[in-house]
Amino acid sequence: MASRLASEPAAMSDLLTAALGRESVDAVAIRIDCDATALEFFPRAFVQPVAEALAGQAGLDFSGSQDEVDTFAGDDDTRAACPYCGALPVAAVLRDEPEIKGRRTLLCSLCLAEWTFPRTRCPACGEERAEKRPHHVAESWPHIRVEECGSCRTYVKAIDLRENGLAVPIVDELASAELDLWAVEQGLTKLRTNLLGM
Ligand SMILES: [Zn+2]
Ligand SMILES: [Zn+2]
Repeated sequence: MASRLASEPAAMSDLLTAALGRESVDAVAIRIDCDATALEFFPRAFVQPVAEALAGQAGLDFSGSQDEVDTFAGDDDTRAACPYCGALPVAAVLRDEPEIKGRRTLLCSLCLAEWTFPRTRCPACGEERAEKRPHHVAESWPHIRVEECGSCRTYVKAIDLRENGLAVPIVDELASAELDLWAVEQGLTKLRTNLLGM
């Protein structure tokens, strides 16, 4: 696949445009006859460090209080997307802080920024009722929970730093692919796949 892309610079350019515009890569996949999910890896791997560096340079910090997040994000519907680059989150992170116990942030799939998000709310549909928001923890990954939504059947993995203070959310999210396999078996769809297409 990489060699096919290398021999067609226009396809790579179209892929980057799609990734930056958060559009589907399906059209390019059909053109060069590749699997779309696998093809997504290339623009994301290329764009991610650039987006991360830009977010870092801008010095933005959306991990502040909920009031600050509300002020910035406006209405509820926009809040599940990264306030810096607009991409969807790849995971959630839970941690205790002096003023807020069990604060939940979302981790951007593209620029890796984190922003505060209501603890129980589904980032896909806004569902907040506790009975619709079960979570699943496997013995092999005691510090990661699969947060399901009974309303829209979407899930995100939450890395719980209270259970393992040494966990690295972006790494553990990638490493715990067995949890994604489990979730798919339950008929759940991930809010945003990771770099490996899981
Ligand atoms: Zn972002
Ligand atoms: Zn939902």
